[in-house]
This record gives sequence, C-alpha cells and structure tokens, in this order.
Amino acid sequence: MSAKLIEGIPLAAQFRADIALEVQALNAQGKRVRLACIQVGEKPESLLYVRNQKKLCAELGIEFEVEMLPDEISQNALIQKIHELNQTPEVTGIILELPLPARINTFMCQRAISPQKDAEGVHPVNLGLLVYGVAHHAPCTAMAAYQLIKSTGVELRGKEVTVVGHSQIVGKPISLMLLHDFCTVTTCHIATKDLAAHTRNADVLVVAVGKPGLIKAHMVKPGAMIIDVGVNRIPLKDKDGNPVLTEKGKQKYATVGDVDFENVKEIAGWITPVPGGVGPVTVTMLLRNVTEAAKHDHGPNL
Ligand code: NAP
Repeated sequence: MSAKLIEGIPLAAQFRADIALEVQALNAQGKRVRLACIQVGEKPESLLYVRNQKKLCAELGIEFEVEMLPDEISQNALIQKIHELNQTPEVTGIILELPLPARINTFMCQRAISPQKDAEGVHPVNLGLLVYGVAHHAPCTAMAAYQLIKSTGVELRGKEVTVVGHSQIVGKPISLMLLHDFCTVTTCHIATKDLAAHTRNADVLVVAVGKPGLIKAHMVKPGAMIIDVGVNRIPLKDKDGNPVLTEKGKQKYATVGDVDFENVKEIAGWITPVPGGVGPVTVTMLLRNVTEAAKHDHGPNL
C-alpha cells in the first residue's frame, strides 16, 4: 500500500477529549449541555443509531433525551414538539432522526429547528451562513470530511479539488468549505459528462455518492488525497461467488465506501478507510455542535 491512511477513530478521540473538557467547564459555569433526539416511529436502524448517540453523550458528559413520537403523528404535531424543544433552555441541540414517514415534509420539519440548536447543521440559515464562512453549526458530515483533510497538514491553498456528489449535507457544504481555503473546486453530479476527467485532475478528491466501487484506480491522480464519505452495505460473497451466511443462515454484509479502496490505495497519497474514516468524526461533530451551542445564551431565534 502506498497511500497513508487518514484514520477517523484517533481524530475523533482527540475531538471527544476536547468536547468532554468543554462540557465540564460549561457545567462548572452552571450551563447544561443537552441533546434532544426526536424519533418518529420505531425503526431498528435508527434505534441503533440513537443508542450509539446516547452512549457517546454519556461518555462525554452530555445529557441526552429521546422524544419518541408515534409513527402516525401529524406534521403539525411534530413541528409543535420541535417548537417546544426550541423554547426549552436546557436543550442545547436537537436532532431529528431520519427517515420520517413519507407523508411528512422533512425539509419543513428541519426548518422548524432553531438554527442555534441545529445539531446537524442542516437548517437553511446555517447552510446560508456557510456561504459567508460564519455558520453557527456546519453540517456534521461535511465538517468531518474537512477535519480529516486538515488533519493531514497538507497545504490546501491553490489545490485542485473535485467533490463527487452535490447533496445539501455533504457535497455542497464541503465544496464551499474548501473554496474558503482557496482551493479550486469542481463539484460533480449525476449530469457530469466525464467524471473520470474531473477526478483525475484532483489533488484532493471527496466522494459522497452512495455507489460502491464508483471511483476506480484509473480515475485517481497519483499521490492524490481521497476522502471517501460513502457508506454502503453490500452482501458478502466467497471466492466462488456464493453468499456468505451467518450461523443462523442469514446473508452477511460488509460496509464499504464509494471508492475501490484496495486498488486506489496503491495510487493515492492519502486515503480514508470505510468504516473508520469519516463516520466516527461525523457523530463527534454533531456533539461538538451541541456543546458549542451551550456556550451562547440564546433564545429560540437568531
Ligand atoms: P445523496 O443525498 O443521495 O447524494 C448523493 C449525490 O451523489 C447526489 O448529489 C447525486 O447527484 C450524486 N450522484 C449520484 N450518482 C452519481 C454519479 N454516478 N456520479 C456523480 N455523482 C453522482 O447522499 P448523501 O446524503 O450526500 O450521502 C452520500 C453518501 O455518504 C451515502 O453513501 C451516505 O450513506 C454517506 N454518508 C456518510 C456519512 C458518514 O458519516 N460517513 C454521513 C452521511 C452520509 P444527483 O442528486 O444529481 O442525482
């Protein structure tokens, strides 16, 4: 392997140690740090996610509450609950677990969260402030990718950056963040005609799509830095192509990114693993947003 690994777990551990100290200092000043997590209906995947958030909050000294709401809740009632949490002074961060039932407009509900309590950094005010480089809370995943890039110490000014994917939570915000660092940023999407031409030009390549194996070795510039945001669960197969099963006879799955890691690592200069790259830093950025919010006395609106 020629590429150096950019590992998320040790970077996340550094941030977590700082957050735990910040929480202690805030508590000593009589300020509480509390994350309220809104969960609509009982979905096994998001219940696992919520359990992990709860565990990490406990480790860092952050208070945690779950608002478990019935699957049949109306959009108005959900927004009313969000407004109540906006008005609750001890709650410093709110996260709305997705997906919501199809009849509920996710964007309207995310907009209802106070920008200062927007733990995920997805409120339009925070995304808008990112254009000015002064967001209260940046989107967690984009910030995680940015922190992993910064952790290498590589000078960014003047670098060619290609971002693959233009979602509101990853592709667009990371493009803006790197533009602020005077990178020359190209953002690719489904209509990009020659993806490989753009990826091969990149000194830093950020991939956030959700398609395993999208980025192959021939699409990477030798020595480039590769940040793989993608998280994909693929069925495991043995060397003959047969499904690998658990002891109970169920299909086993592997978690992979969007980059063909095994081959790309031979070409790249730096690369993030999946799992163990962007993921652990993302959840840490969420709790950093919650802790930052507790430093400021604020009402429900900006
Ligand atoms: P998303 O909203 O589905 O966005 C995917 C983006 O990829 C879209 O902008 C889409 O463009 C673009 N795209 C699709 N096919 C493409 C192609 N062939 N070439 C170029 N662009 C293409 O997903 P997301 O929320 O940004 O998440 C992206 C990935 O990151 C997913 O795998 C997700 O699981 C993962 N993720 C990881 C973390 C973490 O903490 N590690 C957190 C969040 C998300 P169009 O919109 O034009 O189709």
